[in-house]
Amino acid sequence: MKRGRLIIFSAPSGCGKGTMLAQILKNENYRCSISATTRQPREGEKNGINYYFMTREEFEKNINDNKFLEYAEYCHNYYGTLLSEVDDYLEKGTDVILEIEVQGALKVMRIRKDAVSVFIAPPSIDELRRRLKKRGTETESVIEERVSQAEREISQAKNYDYIIVNDVLENAVDDFFAVMRAEKLKAEFSDDIIK
Ligand code: 5GP
Repeated sequence: MKRGRLIIFSAPSGCGKGTMLAQILKNENYRCSISATTRQPREGEKNGINYYFMTREEFEKNINDNKFLEYAEYCHNYYGTLLSEVDDYLEKGTDVILEIEVQGALKVMRIRKDAVSVFIAPPSIDELRRRLKKRGTETESVIEERVSQAEREISQAKNYDYIIVNDVLENAVDDFFAVMRAEKLKAEFSDDIIK
């Protein structure tokens, strides 16, 4: 059985990452790791489906018990990838997507050299602000905080293997599958064909 690929998938808030992921995950070979977070659930979010929602104390206990592949603080909350969400699935041949922000992504790139990293960029900052407002889940000040956060994140996009601009959803999803298709043909992952 060929090991699955670990995929780092980062996008500033409001880049349409949720809709892109929903399309990608229709393909059975992909699984999105469920992260732990200390942020409050948004309307409709469920524990164990969208996130594992934790108190700061619970989260810090998991840090001390080395349960995380990576974690980071983002907009005053902790977010982290539990190891239990990653390696078992990779072993079974499933491709595991980590939907994580830039600091966590940079950590994973350092410790998992075989991970493929993809940054999803908005067509422009104005379009990003418009999308965040349209979503209507955050207050004006949180939106502005997220827009400045997005600008900082976009400045780190050059550290990723690939950058996909999410202007038209279908094209962005196609680009993602094109990246994965090429990645799987890389000689270094073909040792089962050519010894
Ligand atoms: P949101 O609050 O909008 O769900 O997520 C805020 C940010 O946290 C997003 O950029 C998202 O990618 C990131 N994030 C979600 N889970 C994780 C995680 O496990 N680790 C890290 N480092 N970032 C995460």
